[in-house]
Amino acid sequence: MNYAIVLSGGKGTRMGAKVPKQYLEILGQPVIYYSLKAMQESPLIDRIIVVVSREYEDYIKELMNKNDITKAYAIAYAGKERYDSVYSGLKKIPTEDITDTNICLIHDGARPMLDNEIIESCVESCKKYKASIAAVAVKDTIKVSDDKGFAIETPDRSKLYQVQTPQSFTIKLVYDSYTQMYKEGKTEGVTDDAMVVSAFGKVEPYLTKSSYKNIKVTTPEDLKIAECFLRRK
Ligand code: C5P
Repeated sequence: MNYAIVLSGGKGTRMGAKVPKQYLEILGQPVIYYSLKAMQESPLIDRIIVVVSREYEDYIKELMNKNDITKAYAIAYAGKERYDSVYSGLKKIPTEDITDTNICLIHDGARPMLDNEIIESCVESCKKYKASIAAVAVKDTIKVSDDKGFAIETPDRSKLYQVQTPQSFTIKLVYDSYTQMYKEGKTEGVTDDAMVVSAFGKVEPYLTKSSYKNIKVTTPEDLKIAECFLRRK
């Protein structure tokens, strides 16, 4: 039994819009619709859990009904931080499915370019390595800055990857890692699930080759780029 947790509990302040970025429309559908549809159409996903803020619960339920997202299994309420939202979603998985073989894909609802090819590669490498994250090699040189904004370091570009979602894990591994993180109260600076599994589950996630198109809609220009990609799909 494989689960997808689709996150849509963020406020999306960097977009500067009134509506959170995952609910802005592209080609007549909200951004989140596209990843829900990809999960729905993938034969590798059995159940979908959507994480939402309470005020968008009815909106999401209606969206899924209207678009035949029949794999919708549960709605979980978002937390203050992304990791709180992920844990809220994980807690909706019934105990009997928290095993070493079932897989959970955690995906940002703000990434509308998800497709079956990405889902397949993520699941395949998760089966092999227990933890896998969609990633692409960085194209630009990356600098590390000091507190005053001066470049002080240039990491070796050949070893740098930009990570995306889905981040996929065997369910017991990710569930236990999150539980341990909260137990130890070490949540500071956590921005993705791979960090949690690596620190508290002691498993290094495999970087699964993804697509440069799998962007996260974060700022207004991203909406235009996503629209352009979706139009060609
Ligand atoms: O803010 P960021 O771009 O990292 O958010 C990534 C995803 O996590 C988005 O889909 C957003 O809706 C979700 N999120 C959430 N709960 C939060 C913060 C972000 O579900 N508290």
